[in-house]
Amino acid sequence: MASIERIEHVARRVIRAKNEGHDVVVVVSAMGKETDRLVELAEEVDYQGLDARREMDVLLSTGEQVTISLLSMMLMKHGFKSESVLGRQANILTDKEHTRARILDIDASFLKNRLSDGVIPVVAGFQGTDDSGNITTLGRGGSDTTAVALAAVLAADECQIYTDVEGVFTTDPRVVEGARCLDEITFEEMLELASLGSRVLHTRAVEFASKYQVPLRVLSSFEDTPGTLITREDDAMEQPIISGIAFTRDEAKLTILGVKDVPGVASAILGPISEANIEVDMIVQNVAADMSTDFTFTVRREDYDQAMNILQNIAKNIDAREVSGDNKIAKLSMVGVGMRSHAGVASRMFEVLARESINIQMISTSEIKISVVIAEKYLELAARALHSEFDLAEVAG
Ligand code: ASP
Ligand code: MG
Repeated sequence: MASIERIEHVARRVIRAKNEGHDVVVVVSAMGKETDRLVELAEEVDYQGLDARREMDVLLSTGEQVTISLLSMMLMKHGFKSESVLGRQANILTDKEHTRARILDIDASFLKNRLSDGVIPVVAGFQGTDDSGNITTLGRGGSDTTAVALAAVLAADECQIYTDVEGVFTTDPRVVEGARCLDEITFEEMLELASLGSRVLHTRAVEFASKYQVPLRVLSSFEDTPGTLITREDDAMEQPIISGIAFTRDEAKLTILGVKDVPGVASAILGPISEANIEVDMIVQNVAADMSTDFTFTVRREDYDQAMNILQNIAKNIDAREVSGDNKIAKLSMVGVGMRSHAGVASRMFEVLARESINIQMISTSEIKISVVIAEKYLELAARALHSEFDLAEVAG
C-alpha cells in the first residue's frame, strides 16, 4: 500500500476517535521499509567504530520525522489542529545506550499542554534524547514502546497499536490455516508470546504495559475490526488452557560431551559464551552416569558458528570428549495462563508430537509455557497438530 494512503488510514482513525470525544495523542513509526532502507545505507558506509551507534540513531530517527509531519498536515487538511512532536520535545529522556536505549523518564507536561490547547500531537515514536541532548533510539520496533510509555504517563484509557495484522493470533496464520485472532489475552501470555518470536509487539512495550497496567489493544490499520485487547488476568474473560502457539526457526543447539561432573563446569562452558555476547536460551545438563556428563544449550542461529568455535576451545581446556551441534532446529512453545490450573497439558502435548513421530530434543517449562526443541523440518506439522488438538481454532466459552 502506498505510504500516503496508509497515512490517510491512520488519519481517519484519529479523526474518528477525536469525533467520539477523546483526547488523542498519536505516536507514529517510519513509513514502510524506510528504517530498513536507512540501515542499508549505513551498511554501505560500513563503519563499525565506537561512535557508529550514536550516528545510527541520528540516521534512523529521521524515518519517524517524515511521518509525523505528513500526518500532522493530513489532520490539518481535515480541519483539526495538529502539531508534529519530536522525542526530545515530548521530553522522552532515555539512557545513553544508543540503538537500544531505555526510557528513564517522561515529563508529560508538554503533551498535556498541547492537548489542552485542542491540538492533536503527533509524536515521533522510537526516539528519545539522553541527558546531554543526543538523539537515541529504542531498538527496532520501538515505537510501540513509545506509545505505551506515553499512554502510561498520560494515564490514557487505552493504548491502541495499529499494525498490518488484525490482532494477536493463536498462531502464525501463514503456517496454520485455522489460526484465529484472539479477542483478549493477558499481559503475561503476551509477554511470553512476544519474547518467543510472535512479532506483533515490541517485547519492551508489553513489559511497560504490564508494569503500568496500560490496557493495550492491537488492531489493523486497514480493517474495521476490534483487534485483540491485552489486559490483566482478572479482567480477562476468555480463559482457555492454551492461548497461543509461538515458534521460531532462529535456533541452534550445541552439545559438549563427556565433561567431568564437578562444580564449576557449567560456568566454565557458559562464561566464555556470554563474554562473547551470545545469548543462551535453553540449557540442559544430563545426570552423570560414570562421573561424566553431557551439556547442551541453544543459541540464536546467527551465533551458531561463533559459539561452536568458542565451545571447541573450551572442550580442549576442560578435557571434554567431543563437541557436536545442530543448526536446523526450531523451538515451539505453547502459552496459556490456564495451564496453572490444568494438569496434564505437557503430556498431552508430548502425545501429539509422538503421534506425528516428531522427536523432542529438549524441553523447558515455566508456569504458563511449555517449550520444545524439534527438528526444523517438522515445525509446521507440529504447529498444525497442536493447534488442532487444543481446539485453538474454536472460540472459547
Ligand atoms: N521505525 C522503527 C523500526 O522500523 C521503529 C518502529 O517501527 O517501531 O524499527
Ligand atoms: Mg512496528
